[in-house]
Order: sequence, then structure tokens, then C-alpha cells
Amino acid sequence: MKNLFFEIKYYLLFLLILILLFIGIIFSPKIPYPSDNSEFIEKEVFRSKVLLADDRLSHEVDTNNVIQILEIKKNDTLLNLLKTSNIKDAYIRALIKTSGSEKLAQIKVGDFLEIKKTSFGEPEEIFLTSNELDGILATYENGLFKIQNFSRPLEKLERFASVTIDTSLYESAVREGLSDSLIMDLVYLFGWDIDFIFDIRPGDKFDVLYEDFYWKGNQVKNPDIKAARFLRGNKVFTAIRYFYKDGTKEYFSLRGKNVKKAFLRTPVEFSYISSKYNLNRKHPVLNTIRAHTGVDYAAPKGTPIISTSSGSVSYIGNKGGYGKLIEIKHSEDYSTRYAHLFKYKKGLKLGDKVSQGEIIGYVGKSGLATGYHLHYEFRVNGMHTDPLTVKLPDAEPIGDSEKEGFQNLAVRMINRIDNLYLQIYAAN
Ligand SMILES: [Zn+2]
Repeated sequence: MKNLFFEIKYYLLFLLILILLFIGIIFSPKIPYPSDNSEFIEKEVFRSKVLLADDRLSHEVDTNNVIQILEIKKNDTLLNLLKTSNIKDAYIRALIKTSGSEKLAQIKVGDFLEIKKTSFGEPEEIFLTSNELDGILATYENGLFKIQNFSRPLEKLERFASVTIDTSLYESAVREGLSDSLIMDLVYLFGWDIDFIFDIRPGDKFDVLYEDFYWKGNQVKNPDIKAARFLRGNKVFTAIRYFYKDGTKEYFSLRGKNVKKAFLRTPVEFSYISSKYNLNRKHPVLNTIRAHTGVDYAAPKGTPIISTSSGSVSYIGNKGGYGKLIEIKHSEDYSTRYAHLFKYKKGLKLGDKVSQGEIIGYVGKSGLATGYHLHYEFRVNGMHTDPLTVKLPDAEPIGDSEKEGFQNLAVRMINRIDNLYLQIYAAN
């Protein structure tokens, strides 16, 4: 009897605790999202983008001035451009007398001349630039011109997006507000491991941390990826941006492996494979069994052909059935051959250095060929190898002296992506 009483007492106590917990959950004060804290989430797009408060834009915009932007055409001179934009002769004379004006006068077709005038027509700034960012700037102040090299100090805005792919990578990414150039960069970074055209699966996703650049409230130049990762099931591909001391950048995996391969998979864009590597193929012209020791890419006449890796030209000229042929030697072990060309790149000659992706020639049907196509061979130690299945060597990994710095950076980037990802999904 006593035992049963004890059991009931504990049972009631347990029930009471449960009820209290339940009340606690229901009536607990809602914790407001810290929108005014470290991070600011743009409401309408908060699912895909996080704007970071610490580098929000100043929104400094010119309002009182008139800015004319003139694209420089053939036969333009600085003088006639200034005249057509109604700059008074007195200003033009003063400008020409100023030291450095000869640099301003060196205009090239395609450059831009930006003329900023006050509402009274006084020229305040004249900026000659090819990329809208750097150039020669003349400023007029207190009756004097000053001419100098000038780079616009850009404002950087860090952004984050997380995209789950349903139909195509492109459509899914556009829906999340990513620009074409950013999508191209992502395809470039991960295209070495993933075929985005033929091998994209619903549910694949990627996270990308990138920078947008602004000048006085206007977006300028293409965004730049700081870090990105592609997720497929439990496979993760990561790319972290790393700047070398000379300002060049490369992307590496978390382990410091270069995301690029030493070779591009295909030497021609916009083509299809018309004949694979086959050691027992009947030759279409000779009509006898002759091994096909390369891959044929059918493409229209004149389609550019690119070198699949950096190297130097070890053969250029006619060679029997190959027709016009280029051979590139990439290292002691590796070389590639490009045959049946219509023509070579202008000026390309034996011994020239070429870089990966550089145009070396154009698709034709010279030699023994039935239609326009590129015959591409991949040789390892002088032996023919199937270019479609050969395991391509990696590009240079991070150097030993940079390894520690890179790893610290990589950890920070991944933590940042994880944090931003959690914010997006916690807010949903
Ligand atoms: Zn062929």
C-alpha cells in the first residue's frame, strides 16, 4: 500500500513538471530576431541573400551635377569632344596648359570620357577611363586644373546565396537573384568536377559567398566569389579564393588542392563528339580498319580551338592524313594534338608558349576528313590515350609556404558560410 502511494506521488510530480514545461514553452517571450545587430537581412529576399551591416553602402550619389559619358569613336579628339559637350574655350585652354594634359589627350576608341559639370556649366571633373574604374582624372578647383592617375575607391558589399537546383542550375540560380556572370564563375569553379549540362540532379545545391562592388550607389564590375561549395548528397566540393602576394588569385579546395585541372576536358566549345577513341574503327575515308586514336568533335568551319593546357607549340604544319596539325607539349609526359584545322591562329609558330584556354587555331577539314571536325589526341609519355577517360592531372596545389595562411582563411570562410546558411534557414 505504501509502495503504491509512493508511485502515485512520483507519477503526479512527473505530470506536474511536464505541465509546467508545457506552459513555459507556450508563454515564453518570443525572442526578436536581432535585425539591428551584427547582420541585416533584406526582408524581401531574405531567403537567398544576406546583406551585412558592417559594410552597407553609403548611398552617396551626385545630384547637383550633370554627368555626360561619351564613348570614344574613330577620329575623335579630346578637343572636339570637349567642344561638343559645350565646355567653354577658356576652360579648354586652361586644361591644355596643365601638366599631364597629354595623358588625357591619349584617347582610344572604346574608352569613355566622363565630364561632370556644375549646374552653371563649369567643368568639375573630366575622367578618361577604359573600364569606368581607373583612368586619368582632371579636377577643376579654385580656377585651376589638376591632372592625375585615379582609381575609384569602390565600396564592397558582401552577399551570400544558397541555391537548391531543381530543373537547371541556371534557372535556379537566376531565381535566387544571382547574375549571369556569377553563375558563369560558379560553373567555371565546379565545372572541373561536375558536368552542369548533363549531370545536374534535382536536389544538388550550392552556397556562395561573394562581393558586389559599388561606386556612388551604382554597381560596377562583376561580382567576385570569396568562397563557394557545391553539395550533392554527402559529397561536398569547396572552392576558397586565395590571393597571392602579386594580386593574382586561385581557388583551392579545403585541403589546398587547386579546383582546376591541368587540362580542360574539351578543346572546342559548341561542338558534339562525332567519333570516340576506338582502336578497331573502320576509317571513313580509307574504308579500312584503322584505329581511331583520338576524339572527333564536329563543329562548324572556323570554330575556335583552344589549347587544353598551357605548354609550347612542338609541331605546327601539314602532316599527312592529319592535314593542318598543331601539337602542344605540356610537360615531359603530356602532349596534345589538334588536327584537320582550317587555319592556325595568326602568327602562331613553333616554340611559342600558349596558356590554357588560349585559341590556337580554327576547325576545318584539311587532310583525310569527311566533314568539318576537330580530331583531338591526348598523349601520355608518347602513347595515345583516350582523352575522354584519361584521369587528368590536377593543377598546382597551394604552395607549402602559403599553406598555413590558406588553411586559416579556409576555416574562416567555411564558418562564415555555415553561419549565414543557418541564419537564412532559421529565419524561415
Ligand atoms: Zn579523328
